[in-house]
Amino acid sequence: MKRDYYEVLGVTRGADVSDVKKAYRRLARELHPDVNGHDPQAEEKFKEATEAYEVLSDAQKRRTYDTYGHEGLRRGGGTAGGGFTDFSDIFDAFFGGDMFGGGGADIFGRATGRRSRTTRGRDVTLSLQIDLQEAAFGASHEVEVELLDTCPVCGGARTTDPASVKSCPDCGGTGARRSVRSTPLGQFIQTGACPTCRGEGQTISQPCEECKGQGRTRQHKTIEVDVPAGIADGQRLRFAAQGEAGAGGGPPGDLYVEISVAPHPEFERDGDDILSRKDITMVEAALGTTISVATLDGEEEVVLPPGTQPGEVKVLRARGVPHLRRSGRGDHHVLLNVMVPQDLTAAQKDLLRDFDESCGPEHYDLKEEGIFQRIKHLFTR
Ligand SMILES: [Zn+2]
Ligand SMILES: [Zn+2]
Repeated sequence: MKRDYYEVLGVTRGADVSDVKKAYRRLARELHPDVNGHDPQAEEKFKEATEAYEVLSDAQKRRTYDTYGHEGLRRGGGTAGGGFTDFSDIFDAFFGGDMFGGGGADIFGRATGRRSRTTRGRDVTLSLQIDLQEAAFGASHEVEVELLDTCPVCGGARTTDPASVKSCPDCGGTGARRSVRSTPLGQFIQTGACPTCRGEGQTISQPCEECKGQGRTRQHKTIEVDVPAGIADGQRLRFAAQGEAGAGGGPPGDLYVEISVAPHPEFERDGDDILSRKDITMVEAALGTTISVATLDGEEEVVLPPGTQPGEVKVLRARGVPHLRRSGRGDHHVLLNVMVPQDLTAAQKDLLRDFDESCGPEHYDLKEEGIFQRIKHLFTR
């Protein structure tokens, strides 16, 4: 459903071209990305306003629209708003040039072709170390940061006295200075930033004392960082618009928190799987036993059957790290390390020899081969 163009711009059907321009200019100011950040809704509204403006400011298109409505424009071929797909395209097309006249200044009262007055704040990157448990299940941390933020006294307006803001007398508020340069090839007109106001188009006689008229001050902030469950070492979290404040009313930068996960004394992490090692005695391996295994969820009992082999791996399903931003968890792999006793007494040795004599090759017939090959990377870290 397309809205009526007159309604979009908020003008009457009898409005003349200058009213249409005025209405569009007002909307453009409201919806400008420097004011709204990157608000997709503002972008949509601006596109709609631009389309309405293109039609209502063009006598022929407007006649067609008045007579046949939106349908008439579609049939007529010259689709309104066509060709512009990107917000910035539209802005450049309309405001990059001298669309509204007015001596080299765009509708925002700034010198044309110069955008340095409003700059986006810098991105800030912090690092945060957490432990494996926190990486697995998520955690909330307070992080201290020092950055340029909007001045708390003037709220970024750079002065507390609005009356002290004056249009720059040297450039008439355009922020631009034109100079004529003579060369053997002729005269060139150059447009540069006005040196008096540094291109800002205005002067402030009573700058805010707190920020010295900068609109930003260095501030100490505490930021609450919610670490999502399943995060891995080296991943970055982005906090939109939490970075430095922009200059001259520009949008703020983003804050990034780089996560490092401290090594765990017992667990290795392999993707979302956890690997750990458990020592059992030769006798336990031969007779079978129940062991207690430390997992992210605490101790867990694991039954080992008789004849458990060195290097065998027990897999505890879904006891690993939860997947980041999706359901399910990795597994916990327990590598069984069979210990062989040392420093035996003569009596113990005799027992083992007797035992060995009773034990034929059929007792060493391994059903599963190659286990060690599969998990040997665990030993070579
Ligand atoms: Zn201030
Ligand atoms: Zn100036």
